[in-house]
Amino acid sequence: MATTLKLILGDQLNCEHSWFRTTDPEVVFVLMEVRQETDYVLHHAQKIIAIFAGMREMARQLQEAGHRVHYLRIDDVDNRQSLTANLDFLIARYQAGALHWQAPDEYRLDQQLQNYAAQLSIAAQMDDSEHFYTSRDEAARHFDGRARWLMESFYRRMRSHHGVLMTASGKPLGDQWNFDHDNREAWPGTPWEPADIRPRHDHSALWQTIQDAGIASFGAPSAADFRWPLNRAEALRQLDHFIQHALPHFGRFQDAMSSKAWRLFHSLLSFAMNSKMLDPQTVVARVEAAYQAGTVPLASAEGYIRQILGWREYVRGVYWHRMPGYDQLNAFGHQTPLPHWFWDGQTRMRCLAAAIGQSLEHAHSHHINRLMVIGNFSLLAGLSPQALHAWYLGVYIDAFEWVELPNTLGMSQFADGGLLATKPYVASAAYIDRMSDYCKGCFYQKKLRTGERACPYNALYWDFFQRNAATLGKNQRLGMVYMQLRKMEPGTLAALQEQASQSRAALETL
Ligand code: FAD
Repeated sequence: MATTLKLILGDQLNCEHSWFRTTDPEVVFVLMEVRQETDYVLHHAQKIIAIFAGMREMARQLQEAGHRVHYLRIDDVDNRQSLTANLDFLIARYQAGALHWQAPDEYRLDQQLQNYAAQLSIAAQMDDSEHFYTSRDEAARHFDGRARWLMESFYRRMRSHHGVLMTASGKPLGDQWNFDHDNREAWPGTPWEPADIRPRHDHSALWQTIQDAGIASFGAPSAADFRWPLNRAEALRQLDHFIQHALPHFGRFQDAMSSKAWRLFHSLLSFAMNSKMLDPQTVVARVEAAYQAGTVPLASAEGYIRQILGWREYVRGVYWHRMPGYDQLNAFGHQTPLPHWFWDGQTRMRCLAAAIGQSLEHAHSHHINRLMVIGNFSLLAGLSPQALHAWYLGVYIDAFEWVELPNTLGMSQFADGGLLATKPYVASAAYIDRMSDYCKGCFYQKKLRTGERACPYNALYWDFFQRNAATLGKNQRLGMVYMQLRKMEPGTLAALQEQASQSRAALETL
């Protein structure tokens, strides 16, 4: 019998997949570290290390379990550095009779592998990745051609369909679907964030190999003290610690930000889940069990489950429905390149220095930093959504296009004209001050709207709404904002517009 090659991509590190249930000497599992994947966008150093180290760990586990594995390292002389060139080489080398691969989550890779398979003379087959709750087109079928996709309706269907946090009679537990209004508190400094029990790995040698290969990157490698989980057991330990120590406070402080505690009560499990070491079903089941056992309040359990059963599956549905082309949308026509401080964190705006600084140091920053500090400023200042998409895709350890793109272009930049978000997520300094300690000690004054020390968010905020009155003025959710704008003295508005245009002209030095 001829050999079957089974390709495992860098974000398909799921040792529980049915592919691995039995060993078969005729099957060779293929993993490859390729320049095609390191170079399509500039990545954070920790992201490259994490994916290579996770792949190496998976290969080790498969070999230990008795499977045949062909692993191409980045510096392997046989490595042709592209998926398809390597597959040509391996098909010839093993005289393979069949190629299998798991459904990729990125459109780019999906197309590449389908086109490649179409011209092969051997049998080729795409298998399910067995990770998500939903199929690629399930959200699209749920919304059935509707112009606006309300996450909440999709989420409720998911809860009912999968029987999560539901009563026996089909009602949501606590008689309420959503406890979001309980999740809006700033963090007063106590309780302190739980200990960081993430694993410690020394990946200095791997990092040296990555550098020797000439792969460009940015951000702190932290290779000698690498803190991301690299297999299911490590991810599960982190999950259980999160449930016990952080989840009870997750709901209350979900939107809080702090310069003193970058993790706060978040799980930091997005990399483990997006690389598929950890499946969302286990996460949801353990969180629900903690609620049932009385160790976690319903608002926290529901808030956390909503992110995974709701948002995560929903954005994936948006991605597959709108690709190709979604990555090119730019509803406001914003074209400004990113200022240098996206790459070094050196800005006098303390909130952005903190949020970008965390991102560069840890390859992570939690949702509200991504949305209401970095994304908010970018939209107000008119930065190019495509440049921003490339930055988010590169900087975050959990960034894979299917989840990053709808969050960045859709939710954060409103570049799709409002498919995901009912209104742009923008705010002035008052919001950032309410939800964080960033404004204390900032060079800019949160209450000032004009002048050298005025917080740039303030004038940019009013200017953004004024500039986009023709499109956003009709949005019912923005009625208050436009009423305030209409009531504003013409001189005040003109001064705000002048201040905003100065800020936009001086972005590099803010
Ligand atoms: P927690 O706060 O502990 O949340 C638990 C889990 O819920 C996360 O691990 C994640 O799997 C899921 N989740 C939460 N919010 C979302 C969301 N909006 N969309 C999808 N899943 C969600 N998430 C990514 O996984 N990859 C990205 O590239 C990414 N890019 C983002 C870009 C922008 C502009 C914004 C606003 C958000 C982005 N998110 C992204 C969503 C969210 O910020 C991260 O999932 C979260 O910060 C990951 O950290 P955590 O595991 O500690 O999350």
